[in-house]
Amino acid sequence: MNNVKDQLQRPLRDLRISVTDRCNFRCSYCMPAEVFGPDYAFLPNDKILSFEEIERLVKIFVSLGVEKIRITGGEPLLRKDLPTLIRMIHAVDGVKDIAMTTNGALLKKFAQPLKDAGLARVSVSLDSLDEDRFFEMNGRRGKVKTVLEGIEKAAEVGLQVKINMVVKKGVNDQDIVQMAEFFKEKQHILRYIEYMDVGNSNGWRLDDVVSKKDIVDKVNEFSPLQPADPNYKGEVASRFEYKDQKTEIGVISSVTDSFCSTCSRARISAEGKLYTCLFATKGTDLRELLRGELNDEAITESISSVWENRKDRYSDERNEQTIQERRKTKIEMSHIGG
Ligand code: SAM
Ligand code: SF4
Ligand code: SF4
Repeated sequence: MNNVKDQLQRPLRDLRISVTDRCNFRCSYCMPAEVFGPDYAFLPNDKILSFEEIERLVKIFVSLGVEKIRITGGEPLLRKDLPTLIRMIHAVDGVKDIAMTTNGALLKKFAQPLKDAGLARVSVSLDSLDEDRFFEMNGRRGKVKTVLEGIEKAAEVGLQVKINMVVKKGVNDQDIVQMAEFFKEKQHILRYIEYMDVGNSNGWRLDDVVSKKDIVDKVNEFSPLQPADPNYKGEVASRFEYKDQKTEIGVISSVTDSFCSTCSRARISAEGKLYTCLFATKGTDLRELLRGELNDEAITESISSVWENRKDRYSDERNEQTIQERRKTKIEMSHIGG
């Protein structure tokens, strides 16, 4: 194995693979319905990486140091036969952990087959327990009740479950405490995500962000917290534990307390582009390499050199100027999946 390091000495440990650019929700902060409407041109099937191509890439990335794989989207459960892909990835020597991020709408149906195929963990996105507010936030497509059933089913079949809540000021910040209370009672890990300026469609403004500090203060007022150590170097969430119960919460504070110095994640979009940062404007076309004449060694060499040249630290450097510079040119979240 050749453990590659980038220009800032960060290793390559995690690979996030988007398996589709389509979604059954239209969350306003990710795929607003006004932009992703009925005429939106999603990728045709032949432009999306096949399972065999993904498996080949996983083997190559593992040879460069990757240990953890996260499947994402769009909504990954819309990809046909997803458990088959999980099974293929699980069989790759060196893959230590497979996780998936999902909106949970189809999780009840797929939790068992995914677990059987080798999936270990799911992060389920849920922004409110209030049906009306959730409905508005997800573009009038999904119900809280269905997502909660998916979460329960996932826990029941033995998947490790986390809940992701994107917090947007004036939209769902009134739900911070109710979510904490509900998932403390259920003993599920809840992770709050600061609303980020990913993509170009969501009209992001700094004023819409609720900071990590404000989120933690609110939860601490509901039930006192103590900081918990990271589980491993490079963990993105700051962790806290309730003082009276072992359940934890986390905050992913890409905006107010960034964590680029330990970022070991590479991302592959559904059409096979490699991105070395969530806020990247350009990717490397791996599909072209896979479908050309190159052998694994040559593709490994290309990927290795992309990582070795990596200098990304967008969130550390975020300021008015960088925001303006990239305003229209970033990759959409629904293409690389967070
Ligand atoms: N569809 C799946 C889901 O929603 O879980 C997977 C893909 S989604 C792009 C991955 C994660 O990114 C979700 O937890 C979502 O809430 C989060 N996300 C999307 N847009 C975001 C934004 N502008 N700021 C912060 N998080 C965002
Ligand atoms: Fe779909 Fe997930 Fe984006 Fe919401 S956050 S629109 S569920 S991809
Ligand atoms: Fe990693 Fe880019 Fe996020 Fe920094 S901004 S943590 S480099 S993905």
